[in-house]
Amino acid sequence: MDIKKVAIVGGGTAGWLAANHIGKEMLNRKGISVTLIESPDIPPIGVGEGTVPDIRNTLKSFGIREDEFIRQCDATFKQSIKFINWMDKKKHGEGNFFHHLSDVPST
Ligand SMILES: Cc1cc2nc3c(=O)[nH]c(=O)nc-3n(C[C@H](O)[C@H](O)[C@H](O)COP(=O)(O)OP(=O)(O)OC[C@H]3O[C@@H](n4cnc5c(N)ncnc54)[C@H](O)[C@@H]3O)c2cc1C
Repeated sequence: MDIKKVAIVGGGTAGWLAANHIGKEMLNRKGISVTLIESPDIPPIGVGEGTVPDIRNTLKSFGIREDEFIRQCDATFKQSIKFINWMDKKKHGEGNFFHHLSDVPST
């Protein structure tokens, strides 16, 4: 099938990543348009959004500079996650917590 128009419904994480992936693949093909449709009434979930180190390669493949991305998104590098009183006190003790990301650094 000869696709000429691509419509992506939803401007959240999935929508914008899809738009970038498809846009990158179709960059050199003429006569193809990609349109992303956002709802003015329904906000994206937009929470957490911690990601994995390979996002750097993804951004690079999109032609997005990492420093510009961090500035525009007001992002930060996550070193660890501390969950205070996260688990059952009786089973795991007072002030229990855990974090991952290779368990370094710790406080
Ligand atoms: C507490 C919490 C923490 C999380 N932490 C992380 C994390 O650290 N890392 C991670 O990767 N993920 C995390 N997630 C999951 C992540 O936030 C979601 O999986 C992701 O944001 C979903 O993206 P989405 O594009 O599917 O949905 P959304 O971001 O919600 O986007 C949906 C889009 O569709 C639009 N839309 C809806 N209906 C219509 C319509 N009828 N017409 C047009 N547009 C419409 C909305 O306006 C919105 O822009 C977390 C989620 C939660 C709840």
